[in-house]
Amino acid sequence: MPNIVIVGAQWGDEGKGKVVDLVAPCVDVVARYSGGPNAGHTIVVADRRFVLQLVPSGVLRPGKKNVIGCGTVVDPIGLVSELDGLAAAGISVEQLYVSHAAHVILPYHRALDQAMDQERIGTTGKGVGPAYADKAARLGIRVGDLLDEDHFREKLEACLPVKNHLLRACGRDTFEVEEVVKAVRGAVERLRPHVADTALLLHRWMRDGASVLFEGAQGTMLDVDHGTYPYITASSASAGGAAPGTGVPPTRINGVLGITKAYATRVGGGPFPTEVTGDLGELIRARGKEYGSVTGRPRRCGWFDAPLLRHAVRVNGLDTLAMTKLDVLDPCHAVLVGVGYRYKGTTLHEWPGEERVVAKLEPVFEERPGWLSETAGLRTWGALPARAHDYIRWLEDLIECEISLVSTGPGRDETILVEPSCLTRWFPDLRQLCLP
Ligand code: GDP
Repeated sequence: MPNIVIVGAQWGDEGKGKVVDLVAPCVDVVARYSGGPNAGHTIVVADRRFVLQLVPSGVLRPGKKNVIGCGTVVDPIGLVSELDGLAAAGISVEQLYVSHAAHVILPYHRALDQAMDQERIGTTGKGVGPAYADKAARLGIRVGDLLDEDHFREKLEACLPVKNHLLRACGRDTFEVEEVVKAVRGAVERLRPHVADTALLLHRWMRDGASVLFEGAQGTMLDVDHGTYPYITASSASAGGAAPGTGVPPTRINGVLGITKAYATRVGGGPFPTEVTGDLGELIRARGKEYGSVTGRPRRCGWFDAPLLRHAVRVNGLDTLAMTKLDVLDPCHAVLVGVGYRYKGTTLHEWPGEERVVAKLEPVFEERPGWLSETAGLRTWGALPARAHDYIRWLEDLIECEISLVSTGPGRDETILVEPSCLTRWFPDLRQLCLP
């Protein structure tokens, strides 16, 4: 079985959790490679709803190994409360492995995020950006450092003066070494049995024939390099992040599955050329339940942006795409797609990338009639209305990538496989899993 990356092709919240959970029975390991507890995957299994933040979405499939890779940032207290929630719901986390090389989010990271980034960038205030900043600044503390309290103290003694200096400048309270050690002591003991050299484990499992699904967080347009900088997350959210984020070499990764919605959303600040406001934006938000899983913030909604998706196809090397939330567009009389942008009197046909240009883009839309019939819960391609077929085929042409899965609802079975495709070549057992 191949090793495949699942990556968000837009601004996150595309429904990666649902797709990872769907595909997980076809692989042996699910490895999360980037992001922190600012991500939130909602997975619906029959009448139960699970919200995962850092724990990989393979955890709901018994017997699968789940890895939190070195490219993530771990909030020890938050992770323990996530594990407690799963245990209370009867989900086993015995086979969860946390990389000793993942950086940790400590209370001063949250304080700095709230002081410096929350308003400016629209972050979740959970300390993710400042923890990644410390990683790059060589001031970071890693999961493995927490396991020896004296060593952890030494690391804190080295970095806290710098952090406190910044906090003071922002008019915030400062932190003492002992206070930080004490705050995470209980969580560290709970996590200790899960901490491992996960790059080595992954290597051994793969050597013995295991296949791995690499789970991304957020999406391509929030990638630190390829997204809408500076309104991005602080890590490599795009597919390329899977190798450094887990320690699996790029030569062992066989393909990339992108996830996109049938429309577009973004949460927080930053450019969003195809955004729609007013009644239509409200309709999409209400039908798609477009509120953040972690923060409850309303998501901004808009139409599918074809050049932006082409950028995602290129940057991630997408072999194929899963399209979620087709059902949300059921009542739309017309479906619009952004096909280009107007900028200073010219028309651009590709995503321009440059911050000062992206900030001033006006969308160029094309329009097709809506299908105006219920697709929610449909499970076969043949059952979809002809105009929904036309919409999907139109998007495939525009973005130059096949769509191999169409999701018509949050549930595992509300899924259509489109054949023939790359996806069922990789995972033939998916046919059985999605059988109507
Ligand atoms: P992720 O972070 O990419 O996993 O996405 P989120 O979990 O933040 O957001 C996706 C939301 O859409 C979740 O609440 C899913 O249950 C829901 N969802 C996924 N696929 C579909 C679909 O095809 N139709 C509808 N209506 N909801 C869906």
